[in-house]
Amino acid sequence: MKGHVIGVDVGATWTRIALANLHGVILDKYIFKTPREGDRYTIAETITINIIQRYKDSIADVKAVGIGTAGPLELSTGMVINSPNIPMRTFELARPIQDALKKPVIMANDCVAAVWGEKVLGLGKDYSNVVYVTISSGIGGGMIVNDALLLGKMGNAHEIGHTIVDVSGKMKCGCGGYGHWEAYASGVNVPRFAAMLLNEMSISGDERASPVYRAFVEGTLSTEIIYSEAAKGDKLALKIVDKINRYNIAGFENIINLYDPELITIGGAVVLRNREIVFKRIVSGIENSKGVVTSLPKIVITPFEDDIVLVGAISLALLPPQNLIKMLKYIQYI
Ligand SMILES: [Zn+2]
Repeated sequence: MKGHVIGVDVGATWTRIALANLHGVILDKYIFKTPREGDRYTIAETITINIIQRYKDSIADVKAVGIGTAGPLELSTGMVINSPNIPMRTFELARPIQDALKKPVIMANDCVAAVWGEKVLGLGKDYSNVVYVTISSGIGGGMIVNDALLLGKMGNAHEIGHTIVDVSGKMKCGCGGYGHWEAYASGVNVPRFAAMLLNEMSISGDERASPVYRAFVEGTLSTEIIYSEAAKGDKLALKIVDKINRYNIAGFENIINLYDPELITIGGAVVLRNREIVFKRIVSGIENSKGVVTSLPKIVITPFEDDIVLVGAISLALLPPQNLIKMLKYIQYI
C-alpha cells in the first residue's frame, strides 16, 4: 500500500508529530515545545509549519492527519475549549491545519485517541471492550465498549481523573472539585497529598531520618522522591505510597464496574517510571478487591509507552471511527 498518514499529539508541554505508513509504522517523529504565547491560531500554525517543513516530500500522498490533544474539546468545531494547562486556553486546532494542508484532520481527546490506537494497532486488536488509563501530570481515560469508541456530547467523555474517590473531599482538585482521583494520585498532586498525610501522621524517630521527611521539612517534596525512596524500601515513603494507591485502586474499581472491560492498558509517566511501586501494586490491589462485581480484565502497561497518544492519532487517521467523523462538523476532504 502506498501512502502516508500524519499523527499529532498536542500536550500541555510537548507536541509530537509523526509520519507513518499505511500499516501504522512510524517512519519519522519530531517533538517540539507546545507554544505557550500567542493567539487562538498559534498552536495550529506551529503544527502546520512543522508538518510542511518536515514532510514536504511526502505531503502529496498523505491520506489524513489525526490529532490527539489535551482537552476539553468542542469536536463539532475542532477547537480546544478552556484548557486548564495551556495558557491560550481556548484555541482553534483541527480546522486551520485542515485548511492549510487540504487533508482531512480527525481530532479527539488524547486518551480517546490512545484507546483507539490500542484497538487498531496495539494489544486491543482482538478485544471489543478496551480501556486506556493514563496516570501522569493528570489522570485520564478512553473507553471502547462493544467496539464503540465512547465520545460524549462534545467529545469529553471519560474525564475519569475527576471522578470522586473520597466523599469526605479532603483534597481539592485543580478543576475546583473535591475528592477527585486526580487530586490524590496524579504527578502534580502527589506532593500536596503527601504533605497533608505527613502533617496528620505521627512520625517515629526512624522516619524522621527518611529523605522524604527531610524533603517535607525543607519544602522540596516531589513525586519523584516519594516513589524513588519507596522503591528503595524507605518505610515512610512506602506508607505514603500505600495511601496513594488506595485511591488508584478505587479509581480502577470504578472503571471496571462501569465499563466491564476485557483489557485495560495503562500509560503515563507516573506508571511508566514506577512499575513496581505503582503498576504492580494497583494490579495486586484489584486482584484482592472485594469491590469489583464483574470478572477482572487483563491489566497491562501499554507497549507504546510515551508514544501511545501519537499512535492513537495515527490510528484516527488510518481508520477514523464513524461516530467520531459524524461529530466533526468542520471535516472536509474525506
Ligand atoms: Zn477534578
